[in-house]
Amino acid sequence: MAFLTATTKGGASWTPAFIESIDEEKCIGCGRCFKACARRVLGPEDLVDEETDSTRMIMAVVNPDNCTGCVACASTCPKGCFSLKPMEV
Ligand code: SF4
Ligand code: SF4
Repeated sequence: MAFLTATTKGGASWTPAFIESIDEEKCIGCGRCFKACARRVLGPEDLVDEETDSTRMIMAVVNPDNCTGCVACASTCPKGCFSLKPMEV
């Protein structure tokens, strides 16, 4: 199985890991990933808890096709919410 690879400015090989999902149960809505993503892939969303009849903000994947696989979002997340994977070619 081969994956899409790129090259850094210094000539090293880089395998981008693209956004798959965010674990909404783990997300605390801190917004760090939103600030880190330069591609506007992420956006806040309200999650309704029907048991407690309350609402909390979480981060959602709103524009996955814009992802460049830079992994900045996962690097900044304090709760390990992100699932990313390389692209098969
Ligand atoms: S991998 Fe990069 S471009 Fe993709 S969602 Fe995360 S921060 Fe944005
Ligand atoms: S950094 Fe992690 S915990 Fe914070 S909003 Fe993003 S996904 Fe949620």
